Amino acid sequence: MSKRKERIRIGQGPRIYRKASAEQPEKLPGLYLHIPFCRRKCDYCDFYSVAATDDKARQYTQALIAHLEEAAGIVHSQIETVYIGGGTPAMLGIKNLSLLLGTVRKLFKLAANPEITVELNPESTDKALLKSLKKAGCNRISIGIQSAVDDELKRLGRLHSFEDAKKAFKIAREVGFKNISVDLMYGIEGQTADSLAYSLSEILSLDPEHISCYGLKVEENTPLWRRREKAELPDDDAQAVFYETVCETLGRAGYTHYEISNFAKPGYASRHNLKYWRLEPYLGFGPGAHSDFGSRRFSYVRSVDAYIEGIKNGGEIIDYMEDVPQKERAAEYLMLRLRLSEGFAPSEYMRLFSKNFEPIEAKLREYEEQGLARYDGRWALTTKGFLLSNSIISSLI
Ligand code: SF4
Repeated sequence: MSKRKERIRIGQGPRIYRKASAEQPEKLPGLYLHIPFCRRKCDYCDFYSVAATDDKARQYTQALIAHLEEAAGIVHSQIETVYIGGGTPAMLGIKNLSLLLGTVRKLFKLAANPEITVELNPESTDKALLKSLKKAGCNRISIGIQSAVDDELKRLGRLHSFEDAKKAFKIAREVGFKNISVDLMYGIEGQTADSLAYSLSEILSLDPEHISCYGLKVEENTPLWRRREKAELPDDDAQAVFYETVCETLGRAGYTHYEISNFAKPGYASRHNLKYWRLEPYLGFGPGAHSDFGSRRFSYVRSVDAYIEGIKNGGEIIDYMEDVPQKERAAEYLMLRLRLSEGFAPSEYMRLFSKNFEPIEAKLREYEEQGLARYDGRWALTTKGFLLSNSIISSLI
C-alpha cells in the first residue's frame, strides 16, 4: 500500500490538527520541543543544529510559543510527558527556557505527576540554570556525559571534560533533581575495554537513576566520517564485546535493561521515550521535529529560519505528512516493541492488527532456539538478540 504524502503550508496547519482533533488518541500524549542550537558541532553528529545569537534565540522562542498556542487548541487530553531536547537547550538561555516551560504549563492540561525532562550538556550547565529549570517545573534532566576519559571526549569533539560533567551532576543533585539520566557512549575512537570499564565505574559512582548507552555510529559527512580511514575505531566484534560489558556491568549494578540502549533503576525508565517505543502519541515542535498524532505522522522543515518565518508569516513549515497504513503500523509495532525488554504479547498484536501471527511466531521460535529470543507469554529479544536486532527485526517484517 502506498503512503499518502502531501506538502502543505502553515496556513493549512490547523487542518492537521483538526483531523487529529477528531481522532483523539486513547493514550495520553507527550510533547517534544526541539532546540536546534549548539555552540559547536561534535565530530560525530549529523543532527540539525546551528549557532545561536540572542536575537535568534528570542525569535525562535516566540515562534515555538506561537506554534504551541495553535496546537493547544486541539489537544483535549492531558499531557503526560514533556521533553525539551536538542541540540543544546541551554543555548536558548535561562529566560527563554523558563518561558517555554511556563507556556507549556499554561496552555496544556498536564497529567498528575508529569515527567518533564530537559537535556543538558555539562559545559553549559550551572546552578542558576538548574535552579530556574526546577522552579519552572522540570523534574528530570538528561546530561550528555558520553565518557569519563578526557582524551575520548576530545576525539568526539565534545566541549566538556569529565570534571565538568561531575560538577554539573553534583550541582543538579544539590538543586534537588531526584531523577537524572546520563548519556554514555561506547565504540569511541581509541576506546579500550579498560577505558570503557573506567567510564562505567565513574558513571556508576555518580549514581544516576537512568543511563542511555549508545554505540558510536559514523554518520556520513561528519568530521569523523571524513577521517574514518585513519581513526582507530573499534570494529564490529569489539563493539559487540563493549555492548555486552555495558549490559553486564549495569545489570550487576541494579539497572534494568529495559530497552536496547537504555538502563534504569526500578521506576525510572524514561516515560517520554517509552511513548515512541510503544507507538503512543506525541507532538513535536521545532525544525526537524516529528509527530505521531491522530493516526498521522508529520514533521517540520529542518531550518530554523524557515520555521521562524513560516510561523510568523504563514510560510511552509511542514516537511512531510502521511496517514500511516495499518500494515506499516504492524511492522513498526514489531520493530519498536522488540527494542523493549517487555516485548509484546501475541494476543495484543493480533487484536491491534487482525493479522495472522503464525509466520512471525515460527521465526521467533527459531530465534528462541538460538538463544536470541525468549517467550514467557510475551515475546522479547535476549541481550544476544539485541546485538542482532536489526537483522532479526528485518526478517520478521
Ligand atoms: S551537542 Fe549534541 S546535538 Fe550538538 S553537536 Fe554535539 S551531539 Fe550534536
